[in-house]
Amino acid sequence: MHTKTLAELARDLRARKYSSEELTRACLARIERFNPDLNAFISVLREQALTDARAADVRISKGGAGPLTGLPIVHKDIFCTRGVKTSCGSKMLDNFVAPYDATIVERLKTAGTVLLGKTNMDEFAMGSSNETSFYGPVKNPWDPRRVPGGSSGGSAAAVAARLAPAATGTDTGGSIRQPAAFTNLTGLKPTYGRVSRYGMIAFASSLDQAGVITHTAADAALLMQAIAGFDARDSTSVDRPVPDYTAELERPLKGLRIGLPKEFFDKSLDARVGDAVHAALAVYRQHGATVHDISLPNFWLSVPTYYVVAPAECSSNLSRFDGVRFGHRCENPLDLMDLYTRSRGEGFGAEVKRRIMTGTYVLSAGYYDAYYLKAQQTRALIRQDFLEALRQVDVIMGPTAPTPAFGLGEKTGDPITMYLNDIYANGVNLAGLPGISIPMGFVDKLPVGLQIIGNYFDESRLLAAAHQYQLETDWHTRIPKGFE
Ligand code: GLN
Repeated sequence: MHTKTLAELARDLRARKYSSEELTRACLARIERFNPDLNAFISVLREQALTDARAADVRISKGGAGPLTGLPIVHKDIFCTRGVKTSCGSKMLDNFVAPYDATIVERLKTAGTVLLGKTNMDEFAMGSSNETSFYGPVKNPWDPRRVPGGSSGGSAAAVAARLAPAATGTDTGGSIRQPAAFTNLTGLKPTYGRVSRYGMIAFASSLDQAGVITHTAADAALLMQAIAGFDARDSTSVDRPVPDYTAELERPLKGLRIGLPKEFFDKSLDARVGDAVHAALAVYRQHGATVHDISLPNFWLSVPTYYVVAPAECSSNLSRFDGVRFGHRCENPLDLMDLYTRSRGEGFGAEVKRRIMTGTYVLSAGYYDAYYLKAQQTRALIRQDFLEALRQVDVIMGPTAPTPAFGLGEKTGDPITMYLNDIYANGVNLAGLPGISIPMGFVDKLPVGLQIIGNYFDESRLLAAAHQYQLETDWHTRIPKGFE
């Protein structure tokens, strides 16, 4: 069962080849066996999962099942889950049990999915390697000495190791796409506003977006159908009809205009990753797509702009963690100031502190114009570049990350090199566009991802372009050694 896609499992459940309870037990057994090594989970919800699976089986037997009924999934620990610890990878929230469900948790619950557990992640989603987690790093199933990417590293490792067939994630500057690329998975970051952020713990509110990590684009379409759509509880949620993502997978590649930004192919890109992109493009060409050179002249500004905007917003969002209302509180505070400073000092890790300090600095009276305002202006330029390009082509393609998965500890000493790993991802969030990463081959026996970027609310085109490629290739079916 564990090697099947979500779509295949759904078919089998409906055909009663096995029950949701059997499937859930199989996943739990694999979690028990492999997770002690991988560290992909912060919480495993064994009893709850089995209860939900039995309820799903009843629904299936009564003929009242929907497309997702009885399918096990995992949520990144950034999503509030009622009655369940929701830590966001931080000591600050190590004792936090969410009193309500995030919208996407609620929708997937209503759809009948079975929640196996909550996955490990970089603290407050700040990181590209899952190494900033209070709960320790996650190992990449493709090579245990390497990172699974971040910040949704636990979700990616759990799906790649076949402990769960699919996962949710969040992407503020690459955190769905980059871990998907590092673990040979499909990772979709939808358009800003497409999926509700209600109940998703905020990092940088104008960039954060929830999405999914799956084996295939067809599986991503299945999950998107349940989570996309307007939510009155998120003021940035967009009220716009949700297409039939599964039906639209059949859109052919013929006539698809693909833009290739010349700025993506400079010296920061591992040439072997570049070769893999060109090999993938050949597949698209063979099936009638055309490839066009385009330019994103302000692309080089995306990492510096991101590292002003994201810390600025994080410094504001994380001010709520004050040791008073919820979360970590220091022992025996002397006075209010001592309570604040020690609770925050003890509760947050080094990377989160670095971001809060940077953000506070760029927002301070003397520097606001020089940094924050400037970053808002460069953000507008980056967005304009994408929109200009997307007037000439239907989608933009390139690498998801400049390299395959790097070694554990390799970049922790130098934040800038760590940040640069998201060079192809950050701009997409600054522009609010959708992006998907799909498996496109291997470099040094490690998976690498092809990124497809589209226009606002054009997720179905991205999913179709990904699906058609997956019909022609088998990269996405490869399983890391030891997890077959
Ligand atoms: N790696 C980027 C960062 O550290 C992006 C993280 C994310 O998308 N949540 O901010």
